[in-house]
Amino acid sequence: MPSATTKLPAGPHLPTPCFGATTGSWRTHRPVIDASLCNHCLLCWLYCPEGCIERGEKLKVNLDFCKGCGICAHECPRRAINMLEEA
Ligand code: SF4
Ligand code: SF4
Repeated sequence: MPSATTKLPAGPHLPTPCFGATTGSWRTHRPVIDASLCNHCLLCWLYCPEGCIERGEKLKVNLDFCKGCGICAHECPRRAINMLEEA
C-alpha cells in the first residue's frame, strides 16, 4: 500500500492564498529572479511554503504572499534568486 507521501502531488499543497492570509507584510527581504540564469527547474516553486511562485514563460513571485523566508533562493541550483533588502 502506498504511503501518504507517495500520494501527494508535487508542488505546493495549499492554494494561494494560504488560508486567505496575506503574509507579504512579514517580509524584510524579497526574492528577485534573474531570468538569464533560470533554467525553469521549478525547485523554487516546489519548495516555496506559501505557494506564491507563479509559473509561466517567466517565473513571478506574488509579493502579497511572499514572506521573504529565502527558501527559494537557498534551493535554487543556479543561484538565480537573490534576496534583496526591502527599501
Ligand atoms: S530554482 Fe532557480 S533555476 Fe530553478 S526555476 Fe527557480 S529560479 Fe529557476
Ligand atoms: S522567499 Fe519564501 S515565501 Fe517568498 S517566494 Fe521564496 S520561498 Fe516563497
